[in-house]
Parts: sequence; C-alpha cells; structure tokens
Amino acid sequence: MTRIASHRGGTLEFGDSTFAGFAATAAMAVDEVEFDLHPSADGRIFVHHDATLDRTTDRSGAIADLNAAAVRAAIVDHAGSGFRHPLYVEELCAIFADSPVAFRCEIKPGQHGQPYAGFVPAVVAVLAEHQRLTTTTFSSFLLDTMRDIAAATDRPALWLVSPAVLTQLGARGVIDLARLRGIAEIGVHIDCADAGMKMMAEENGLAFGCWAAHTASQIGKALDLGVKVFTTDRPSLAVAIRDRVRAEETSL
Ligand code: MG
Repeated sequence: MTRIASHRGGTLEFGDSTFAGFAATAAMAVDEVEFDLHPSADGRIFVHHDATLDRTTDRSGAIADLNAAAVRAAIVDHAGSGFRHPLYVEELCAIFADSPVAFRCEIKPGQHGQPYAGFVPAVVAVLAEHQRLTTTTFSSFLLDTMRDIAAATDRPALWLVSPAVLTQLGARGVIDLARLRGIAEIGVHIDCADAGMKMMAEENGLAFGCWAAHTASQIGKALDLGVKVFTTDRPSLAVAIRDRVRAEETSL
C-alpha cells in the first residue's frame, strides 16, 4: 500500500511548516509527516524548510546565524490563526505524541548547501529523548549527509535524488551509486518517475518513492505506479484520492 507523507505539514493546505499544518496532519489518515530541520546559532533545532527566514516569515537572515529567540520571534504563518512562530523540533514531537503518523525527517544543509557540522547526531539525540526516533525515517539530498545519518543511527534513510542528479547520472547511475553507498531507498520527483525506473530500483534491492506529488494527476500517478511512499503538499486531497482508488479496487 502506497504511503502518503504530508509535506512540510501540507504546505498548499495549511502554509509552509506551520503549527496549524502539523496539528492537522497529526489527526489525518496519512502515514507520515515530512519536515525539515535547521539549527540556530545557539544549537536549538527548528522545523523550517528554508535555511533562511526570508521567504516564509516576516524576518530575514539565516537560522544558523541567529539565536533561537530571534528565530522564534518570526511569524511564519501569515494567514493562519493560533500559534504562528517557527517550531522547535521538541514541539513537533509533542504535537505528534499521541498520533500514529510517523516522522519523515529531512536533514537540511545551510544556506550555501554545506552540511551543518555535528547536526545529525544532535537531531538523533533530541528525537530519541522525545520517544520519536523509533518511528523516524531520515532523508537528505546530500550523500555526505546520508553518510552522517548512517553513522549516527540505525534508522532507515532515503536519498532524495534531484532532477539534475537524475539527468546527469541516469537511473542506472543513480541506482548503482545508491548501492555503492549502502543506501536502501531513493526518492525522485514525481514528474521524473516511471515504471521502468521503479522496477530497476526494486530489482536492485532499493525501495522506490516519489516527492512533490501536489496535483490530483501527480497523486494519481504515484498511486498508479505503486511507489512505496510519496510526499504531497495536499495531504487531504491525497487521502481522498487514495480512499477512492481503494474503494474502486474493492468494488471490482
Ligand atoms: Mg523536505
């Protein structure tokens, strides 16, 4: 059964990495909640997509250059109500404390693309402290970060393959590189995915998923392909489409 991951708490339904989105996701019939992490200058861990505050908040600057109090002062959810500031990862754990929805934790690099020094062990420690590590799958676009994840935890991790990397290496090259690096799962952009690539990955022992399935046709494609998991900015729509597909299958 294809798993649905609510991307950044369902960006197109609730805003990008908002309390409202994560709280809604915790009560949905999705399988996973996807989120991104960055450290502040004083070592707190924030749930935020971009390395900087500029695009999604009323403040500016790189999270890694700011103390937690300055990051916390930003308003991240202009349209929403309730709590509207960037969340500490501990708060995300609290939101999902009684939810069966699993974590899909993306380890982000800094604003210039470099991994944060010592960041992965810090994330693993805080998730373990809050009883969420055992339900967490990690992800990253960076092979160096995939290595850091493997060194820090036995939890599963998937390599997010960018369209540029896929174009450069081809599906065969990506799969060979993943195997060489001991990676067990890859995820490609939904528009790049096809049945042949999925079959090739699975024949080589890799789990295969997709990201950024935000429209009904992209969600339908992910379900048709039968990928392991896909991320979506429209989790409510994805659940509705998956329910409809299942109902059609059982009525046949
Ligand atoms: Mg992400």
